[in-house]
Amino acid sequence: MPPSAAKKSPRVPARSGRPAPELIFGDLWTFDPAPETADPKLKPRYDLFIDGRFVAPKSGRYFDSINPANEQKLAEIALAGREDVDAAYAAAQRAFDTTWSRMPGRERAKYLFRIARLLQDRAREFAVAETLDGGKPIKESRDFDVPMTAAHFFYHAGWADKLEYVAPGRRVAPLGVVGQVIPWNFPLLMLAWKLAPALALGNTVVLKPAETTSITCLKFAEILQEAGLPPGVVNFVSGAGDTGAAVVTHPTPAKIAFTGSTEVGKLILRALAGTEKKLTLELGGKAANIVFDDAPLDQAVEGIVNGIFFNQGHVCCAGSRLLVHEPVADAVLAKLKQRIRVLRVGDPMDKNTDIGAINSQAQLRKIEELVASGEKEGAEMFQPACRLPAKGYYFRPTLFSGVTMSHRIAREEIFGPVLSILTFRTVEEAVEKANNTAFGLSAGVWTDKGSRILKLSTELKAGVVWANTYNKFDPTSPFGGYKESGFGREGGRQGLLEYARLGRAD
Ligand code: NAP
Ligand code: MG
Repeated sequence: MPPSAAKKSPRVPARSGRPAPELIFGDLWTFDPAPETADPKLKPRYDLFIDGRFVAPKSGRYFDSINPANEQKLAEIALAGREDVDAAYAAAQRAFDTTWSRMPGRERAKYLFRIARLLQDRAREFAVAETLDGGKPIKESRDFDVPMTAAHFFYHAGWADKLEYVAPGRRVAPLGVVGQVIPWNFPLLMLAWKLAPALALGNTVVLKPAETTSITCLKFAEILQEAGLPPGVVNFVSGAGDTGAAVVTHPTPAKIAFTGSTEVGKLILRALAGTEKKLTLELGGKAANIVFDDAPLDQAVEGIVNGIFFNQGHVCCAGSRLLVHEPVADAVLAKLKQRIRVLRVGDPMDKNTDIGAINSQAQLRKIEELVASGEKEGAEMFQPACRLPAKGYYFRPTLFSGVTMSHRIAREEIFGPVLSILTFRTVEEAVEKANNTAFGLSAGVWTDKGSRILKLSTELKAGVVWANTYNKFDPTSPFGGYKESGFGREGGRQGLLEYARLGRAD
């Protein structure tokens, strides 16, 4: 706690240095503001990035990107129509045919290294822009999103001159032009997951960012220009769902990579059926965090909190269901309540904020509707009595206990800071409940027994199973789902294979 906060609060004993525990909760809210002050260097208007240049959309149409923390307009964003998407694909095809696919891997690697370093140079500026546009706390964009984005480019730069090891004994070639569509929850990181492996292999790209979070993507184009990336290798077409549909149904791309909702993923799957296009889909999730009675409960509680409240729960692999062993259920619930009372909800630009703004009004409405269904269906709700800012889109961290598998909050993706708590008695019941979902993206296991971790990691139908930790990411590690969470992997050698055409070695 900063000394100034102690001065302000008469309830904190001045001499002891450490306040009595029962005083901590109320007094955390009197923290002095600690706003991030770096300049995000935003332009009033962002054009499309096609063939290495910023160009106005053919329709002349723009839409507003707003700051969800205060509902103020940040910038105007170009709305790409079909003709703009055509121009982007034409540029990408030219770049593929004339430069990028012909360039030796070691040369492509230099561009990727340069991109990563340039982003590091401007890390604070990008973190602030990411937080303003998307609503996530500055400590997350600063300490997670931006460094992980750079890490993905570094990692794939390392692969670009070693492609013969991606599939030993086979010849590895790029697919061609790829079309990519990304969501709003990790705008920069999803861009890196898509661009870095595609470029390392020699593919060229047309990418559409999400409507509510296009700014950092279009700012990223400035980095590509600064890195001297040949024109047309990467093209950004901002816009709404129609622009996304134009990107995925265009005849040019050899592959489509999509991250977003299961609903749109199904539309894309249908649209591409019968074509020769390759497809990877990273869709929704309803992950279970499973806590056994032999788990270190305090660490588990930290992991559960991180798993669902990180980034306001706008995380496809969020641990949105807690399955807790009956003998420790009451203890875990009590610890969770205590922990979420001290989470700070509010201005995402404040370095002390734990839970920032919900990304959009539409997403806030969706969370409110599902939470109301939880109450109506009889689950018991707990929310701390924290004050929310008057303007902007905010939602209190929320726990639901007494949840059963038939409740909507146990089955549907809420994509907000809402945890549904269920209990179990045996390992078999835990596995059955965890797998009883249409999704299969991730899961968490908290136990002292290594053998139990190994058993569950094979029995849980999830692409990622974390053990005694949660939400850990690394560019070397493949990520992806089962069932309605999609197919294909991003990251690691497996992620590279999704962008490779394999042939016979000469
Ligand atoms: P969404 O509505 O599916 O949107 C994702 C992207 O698709 C956006 O760029 C969107 O554009 C675009 N889009 C909308 N309609 C389209 C269409 N008919 N054809 C092609 N593109 C279209 O999902 P969201 O609400 O933004 O994102 C949240 C979802 O993403 C959650 O379900 C979450 O679980 C999932 N997600 C999954 C992963 C993963 O790795 N598995 C990672 C992050 C998020 P607009 O923004 O303009 O509508
Ligand atoms: Mg925005």
